[in-house]
Amino acid sequence: MATYTPMMQQYLTVKADYEDAFLFFRLGDFYEMFFEDAIRASQELEITLTSRDGGSSERIPMCGVPYHSAAGYIEQLIGKGYKVAICEQTEDPKQAKGVVKREVVQLITPGTVMDGKGVSEKENNFLVSVTELKDGFGFAVSDLTTGENSVTRASRFDEVLNELYSMGAKEAVVEGSMPENLIKSMKDRCGVAVSIEANDEAGQIPDNLLESIHDSELKRSFARLYLYLIRTQKRSLDHLQPVRHYELNQFLKMDLYSKRNLELTETIRGSGRKGSLLWLLDETKTAMGGRLLKQWIDRPLIHQEKIEQRHEMVQVLIDKFFEREEIREKLKEVYDLERLAGRVAFGNVNARDLIQLKKSLEQVPVLTDLVHSLDHPYSSKLAQTIDPCSELKDLLEQALVEQPPISVKEGNMIKEGFSIQLDEYRDASKNGKTWIAELEASERQRTGIRSLKVGFNRVFGYYIEITRANLHLLPEGLYERKQTLTNAERFITPALKEKEALILEAEENMAELEYQLFNDLRGQVRMYIPRLQSLAKCISELDVLQCFASVSEKRRYARPVFSSGELDITEGRHPVVEKVLQAQEYVPNDCRMGSGRSMLLITGPNMSGKSTYMRQVALTAILGQIGCFVPAEKAVLPVFDQIFTRIGAADDLISGQSTFMVEMMEARNAIVHATENSLILFDEIGRGTSTYDGMALAQAMIEYIHHHIGAKTLFSTHYHELTVLDQPLKCLANVHVRAIEQNGKVVFLHKISEGAADRSYGIHVAELAELPPVLIKRAQAILEELENQPKANVLEQKTKETSAASEEEAQLSFFAQDKPAKKNKKEPAADRLLKEELLNLNLLEMTPLEAMNKLFELQKSAR
Ligand code: ADP
Repeated sequence: MATYTPMMQQYLTVKADYEDAFLFFRLGDFYEMFFEDAIRASQELEITLTSRDGGSSERIPMCGVPYHSAAGYIEQLIGKGYKVAICEQTEDPKQAKGVVKREVVQLITPGTVMDGKGVSEKENNFLVSVTELKDGFGFAVSDLTTGENSVTRASRFDEVLNELYSMGAKEAVVEGSMPENLIKSMKDRCGVAVSIEANDEAGQIPDNLLESIHDSELKRSFARLYLYLIRTQKRSLDHLQPVRHYELNQFLKMDLYSKRNLELTETIRGSGRKGSLLWLLDETKTAMGGRLLKQWIDRPLIHQEKIEQRHEMVQVLIDKFFEREEIREKLKEVYDLERLAGRVAFGNVNARDLIQLKKSLEQVPVLTDLVHSLDHPYSSKLAQTIDPCSELKDLLEQALVEQPPISVKEGNMIKEGFSIQLDEYRDASKNGKTWIAELEASERQRTGIRSLKVGFNRVFGYYIEITRANLHLLPEGLYERKQTLTNAERFITPALKEKEALILEAEENMAELEYQLFNDLRGQVRMYIPRLQSLAKCISELDVLQCFASVSEKRRYARPVFSSGELDITEGRHPVVEKVLQAQEYVPNDCRMGSGRSMLLITGPNMSGKSTYMRQVALTAILGQIGCFVPAEKAVLPVFDQIFTRIGAADDLISGQSTFMVEMMEARNAIVHATENSLILFDEIGRGTSTYDGMALAQAMIEYIHHHIGAKTLFSTHYHELTVLDQPLKCLANVHVRAIEQNGKVVFLHKISEGAADRSYGIHVAELAELPPVLIKRAQAILEELENQPKANVLEQKTKETSAASEEEAQLSFFAQDKPAKKNKKEPAADRLLKEELLNLNLLEMTPLEAMNKLFELQKSAR
């Protein structure tokens, strides 16, 4: 380092503390980057890479951005998941001896951005911390933009991943010793940036934040997050709200796969909001309501009473149409109070923001009256909790003019009458200006020079100007000569200069005083932060409830009734497909499941609507449990504790897992964690492997769920062989999606009927997909051939076996089919050979047809 210039040495010292961030190093009007940072930034931001002499033999790579346009560049880097450290000059360069002092004043990271493109209006910007505990993990969450904080404990790491995924967290803070594989999973599966914070000393946290947290491990988890924020943001965090403790099993649990499969907040393809349940539902009018809606969708309730309270409010809002419409109108006028509170604490609000706050507060009394007029115990309770913060509104009303400028340093923000001192300055300035205006008239008269004028410029201040042609009219010595122009002379008088001094002083004082008054005002608003935050909560809740009412009414949803163990949906619809297809085209379907009929095996051709049907049942349950009405004519629902899905082929390409592996992992999740109060959706399980492998796994899973779990299960399959399972399995029923053949072509009716489908329509679907006619014809011939061969109905055989075996011991023994009598007839050696050949088959590599042919071959030799 010794060879570098003192400034470069300073740069390198600062940079050493921010290795994982771009260091924006302030040099005059620019933020400069050097060395590796400069090379990477010039690529990421597409800006010119230059170099400078830094004292060493080689020139140092450098690139920079003007400080006034830095925000856009910072946003770009944060958007790409990087961190940016802002290093400012912290002393006046004029006063500095040697190199100007510089310090990092803020580290901006994906989880700590306060504004710009990285922060979307209707989504939280969550930063989390993950801490390994003696038993499980501590999980703390904070949204710096709104000040919300919470903590929970997860017993397994996959629960941590679920939380990270469903919150859409941007950044996770961990301790340095967190195992590499866990960090990798967080990055790869949930796309979060990972940061290290070693400090987790809970003693350093303000008391009010941890008031309701008694678990010392959870305190530590939150401390890690809080201390990271303090270390990186280096400023007041007054808006942080007391930490809320939540339990993961207070809510309907869904794992990461299920949330993704059901497209609750984003679609699988394209990961966009459009096409998701959130997109369908979002009729909120405020940004706060939009964020709360997403939180509710992520965390459906399991407490029946609480769910029913929401339904009751939705009903009231549906019944009171006019009041609801007025509430919606008023909500439109309400600004984002939560984020505003955050910016007040951060010190970056201007007078315009405070005017928005005032306008929002003006809506509150009317909103409260409207909520009262809904005339129901729940709405009255909500109305009572709304705090209009009227003193704050009055204060802002008295203090600020209606249309203040963006800048807070140039005055013109504070209303007349708010400060005696300011009014005096204003008077002085105004009087001075009037005096000057009058001076022009009086001097014209005195001198008889009609073109005499009084002007002002920055260098000479006020002056009297007389054109050269009129100079002879001016009595000698009347004024003091100040400046000579080509066509005119400019003069001053002592009285004019005296007034000028008064005016300029008043103007300077005015701007300074206004800034000071504005800062005081900001300080006063800061005292209201907790009250504004609770007001924001009430308003966002009202907004989401009106949104449920509006959607439910518009889309003809029904209020569900809860009953333990029974699910009975009449004329149910898939809410999103229905919206996309237009209401009249969607074919509604019933779903009936009770304690004696907990599993439905759904057969039917591909593309007939099996997975749509399954998803619609799950989405109906979720909509019901978030407090919304449901897309059906009538619905009786249980309160589910968990929902598991295995739907579609959502390959987990990022983490490099094959479709089949993902399929099995999702299935495992359900099988290990489901209870009899859960809902399981398995769509075409076993499709990713060879036919018999898949069929065997599918049957084993059905039996396992039937015997050991008892969860409500919808199981769609193209294995017709499985439909015989309704005989031994008492709680399983067959349903199928109807299709008819017209002129040799299949027509989907999308209608669910009782019983099994009579056949599969694979070849017809292939025909629809316009495979070459020769190929279709050949497939039909092969099918016919196969259908005419004697069937080796292993599954039927297996089924008999299962029903005979005790349920506890029901296990898969796929190859132990041969009847003892037959087996005895064979030579043991031949038996062994057959077995060997069977065992050597690589089922994973075979197509269903190859497997079928092989099986016939083996069967032939077994005879
Ligand atoms: P499967 O799972 O049987 O292959 P899908 O559930 O994917 O079939 O449905 C295929 C298509 O059929 C869907 O994209 C949807 O447009 C349409 N569809 C499904 N169910 C219905 C329905 N009840 N009414 C109208 N169209 C439907």
